[in-house]
Amino acid sequence: MSAIEIKNLTYVYSPKTPFEKVALSDINLSIEEGQFVGIVGATGSGKSTLIQHLNGLVKVQDKKKSSVVVNGMSATDKKTLKNLRFEVGMVFQYPEYQLFADTVEKDVAFGPKNMKLEKDEIDRRVRRAIEVVGLDYDAFAHRSPFDLSGGEKRRVAIAGVIAMDPDVLILDEPTAGLDPQGRDTILAQIQAYHRAKGAAVVLVSHSMEEIARNVDRIVVLSDGKVYMEGTPKQVFARAHELEQVGLDVPQVTKVAAALKARGLDIDTAVYTVEALEQKLLTLRGGASPC
Ligand code: ADP
Repeated sequence: MSAIEIKNLTYVYSPKTPFEKVALSDINLSIEEGQFVGIVGATGSGKSTLIQHLNGLVKVQDKKKSSVVVNGMSATDKKTLKNLRFEVGMVFQYPEYQLFADTVEKDVAFGPKNMKLEKDEIDRRVRRAIEVVGLDYDAFAHRSPFDLSGGEKRRVAIAGVIAMDPDVLILDEPTAGLDPQGRDTILAQIQAYHRAKGAAVVLVSHSMEEIARNVDRIVVLSDGKVYMEGTPKQVFARAHELEQVGLDVPQVTKVAAALKARGLDIDTAVYTVEALEQKLLTLRGGASPC
């Protein structure tokens, strides 16, 4: 079964007014269970509108033509919409702005409480979610989220979504505004959740480095349409087409291309620093780095 199945999805803001804007135009997309997918596209390409359909925050406009099914549940069906919101975890941009409780524990417990779970189950999930995001439960559970650093607040907010144990996790720029170390930590934790749960993850990011390091598959949106999709290798091999829609390839891919242009016999399908290092070492005869 697919985790996400989108068919013929079109969405127009302010239809039939002078402000009418087609945000999505006939999107067809299928995401398998357990897949980690990156969505990229220039500002205004439709990324937010698309992901907000996945938990019913934006409603399917034309129910006859379009369909959105997540985890077997239709986003157009009022009966399944509540379950959909429980099974699809959505981490919005700057999620820490939504923290509200006076302790970390209460904040993270908000979702599981709404799901009307038993107290023991809520406690177990809260503890696990706080640990999944790399915070020590005993040290953080009873602190105010408002006294934490920016990176810690972000992790508490993500823990609140993970505590709902979603089968599908959607994250809109989860590392925006964090320093490189904070970014790596959060992505490693998202990867850990993805692997442990076998959850499908959809990561919206403008960082090609971040996308290259983490995803199995990339979907490129442009002007409300799927412009290109494939593995990172397939997508980054089409640098020129990416440029045409205001996107770039990872820096390291450019470095590989520049080395090739200078005569080095190197495969330019490389998009992480580690992979380039390996290729260069192979050229040198396989010596290990010092
Ligand atoms: P992205 O997330 O890729 O930046 P969006 O989904 O936010 O793209 O926007 C897609 C298009 O829809 C853009 O042209 C944007 O200006 C327009 N849009 C987004 N939200 C609204 C809104 N609430 N009202 C009118 N137009 C909107």
